[in-house]
Amino acid sequence: MAGIYIHIPFCKKACHYCNFHFSTSLKQQPSVISAIVKELELRQDFIGSDLVETIYFGGGTPSLLHKDEIERLLAALKAAFQVADDAEITLEANPDDLGPSKLEMLKSAGINRLSIGVQSFREADLQMMNRAHSADQSSSCLRNAQAAGFDNITMDLIYGVPGLSNKEWQENLETFFEFEIPHLSAYALTVEPSTALHHFVKTGKYPAPDEEASAQQFEMLSRLCTAKGYEHYEISNLALPGYRSKHNGNYWKGLKYLGLGPSAHSFDGRSQRSWNVANNAGYVRALSAGEACFESEDLTLEDRFNEYLMTGLRTEAGIDLEWIEQEFGTVWLQDLLEAAVVPIRDGLVLGKKNALKLSLQGKFVSDGLIADLFRIAEES
Ligand code: SF4
Repeated sequence: MAGIYIHIPFCKKACHYCNFHFSTSLKQQPSVISAIVKELELRQDFIGSDLVETIYFGGGTPSLLHKDEIERLLAALKAAFQVADDAEITLEANPDDLGPSKLEMLKSAGINRLSIGVQSFREADLQMMNRAHSADQSSSCLRNAQAAGFDNITMDLIYGVPGLSNKEWQENLETFFEFEIPHLSAYALTVEPSTALHHFVKTGKYPAPDEEASAQQFEMLSRLCTAKGYEHYEISNLALPGYRSKHNGNYWKGLKYLGLGPSAHSFDGRSQRSWNVANNAGYVRALSAGEACFESEDLTLEDRFNEYLMTGLRTEAGIDLEWIEQEFGTVWLQDLLEAAVVPIRDGLVLGKKNALKLSLQGKFVSDGLIADLFRIAEES
């Protein structure tokens, strides 16, 4: 079982908070697509005979792809790999790209899941984030996507935006419920280094996000969505039954995935991670010369243990203590249980039937909390 991620590194406009790899110059789009096709041919052995169950077009903005480009990529993937007949094929899209004819084209090309970057139904938030679309465009895009026959849709929302009141966040969630979209990914606005937002916060042009407001809005997200029947199955992801993301689910289970395109990451399902060069011109140059251009690292036992904690504790199921003992031994399990005593006492971590999970309160401080449970390699 394996997944494939394809990174499309182009955007019409740079969102102020974004630290993904992308270019707003689209002139290299045709040569990057050709290079991705070359890369997937070169890296066929990485997947071998494993059945590809999920394909994910991420970015960047994959909805900038033209009909011939999507068809070419999917045809090349199907020629190089054994793709399941019912594979989940997701494409990330920005609302301003999804008119009726584009939606029809995506559907007939074989895209069966859309991830739509709505971010907010409030115009002031969209402007502050420098999004390329309006709230009205988001609403009509969602209606058009449903009319085109897409039922497996997820959308993104961002909370903790300076100036977004709890009442306005609740209105955003209520608008989401009105559309009856089965999946939601919701993220707290964070100020990443080297972004425009970082510069604006540093120079006082924008206020920094308020952690207390973010925590309250995260609690509202979980409570209001759960009351509507959504399962809060991962810190940032909520789904109606039957609509969880298979692709991301496989990342969290530690299954193999191949990442294609500039900056894409791959994992061999055991102990090796690799990442492509995050530079469009360099990527095209290497592939034109018939060379894949990635660096890789072998994970130590500590890395594998820490990654299991980092992904597992973000999920509803939590981490499996029996599995940890089996894979890493009794001493490491005992050390983990000892490190978890204080967070369990403080109600941040819950111990349940051979598993540890984060409480709702623990989920909001997950990064620091999980890092405190990490295993540090002993100096030799
Ligand atoms: S559209 Fe997505 S990838 Fe592009 S700049 Fe905005 S957030 Fe980043």
